[in-house]
Amino acid sequence: MTGSLAVVGLGPGAPDLLTDSARAALDRAQDLVGYVPYVARVPERPGLVRHASDNRVEVDRARHALELAASGRHVAVVSGGDPGVFAMAAAVFEALERGDPAWRALDITVEPGITAMLAAAARLGAPLGGDFCALSLSDNLKPWEILTARLEAVLRADLVVALYNPISSARPWQLGAALDLAAGIRAADTPVVFARAVWRLDEAIRVMTLSEARDAPADMATLVLIGASATRLIPRGPGQRPFVYTPRSVGAS
Ligand code: SAH
Repeated sequence: MTGSLAVVGLGPGAPDLLTDSARAALDRAQDLVGYVPYVARVPERPGLVRHASDNRVEVDRARHALELAASGRHVAVVSGGDPGVFAMAAAVFEALERGDPAWRALDITVEPGITAMLAAAARLGAPLGGDFCALSLSDNLKPWEILTARLEAVLRADLVVALYNPISSARPWQLGAALDLAAGIRAADTPVVFARAVWRLDEAIRVMTLSEARDAPADMATLVLIGASATRLIPRGPGQRPFVYTPRSVGAS
């Protein structure tokens, strides 16, 4: 088989934060496969066929990409952030595992990207300076009971928690329930950040306390960070957002 498939991370949105390696993979591609807004981020050029699809069909999309590569095409499957973080890379390997055994011989690569929690952390200071974890709050692919059991465990373990996919029109109440769970375990003044569209033109970052977070607006482009007990703010001048950081050491202050 002469085709190839690159699963490419586009980073949080700023062109500067796309790696050179990812850009080279996009330049080589003859077919671009992905969710509409991510495909739209890649400039059009002659010879590049775009296959933009809806968000809910990841494995079909991955299978289609593998079929194209098996037919000899050079294919790029695109995701925002890093493709391995709640995104297309796992869907590609799921389709590969279940699909035509001949696909396994294809040239398949993954191009990393800067994931939302690292992009947001860089904007804030160093909120992920200690131990942390990432959870997707979407219960489309896992039962809500498992999700809340995991959330409770990491809240009790005092990790900083990055919540991806906090809310959507089909999942309006889950974020509130997650924050209620956090409020029962962590102090009311724990720093919480709603980081929306980080590194994009419409970036909006709000730093607040856990008790304020319950009523703060969020949408699908928002990443929620819940601080650990050591996470703290460094206040700055008027109109300046405080830095948020978590010390590397535990037990010292
Ligand atoms: N693969 C992506 C995550 C896909 S899940 C990555 O690595 O970043 C989609 C979720 O990611 C969104 O609901 C939001 O929580 C988060 N996200 C993606 N891009 C973001 C950005 N620029 N700013 C804030 N959150 C973002």
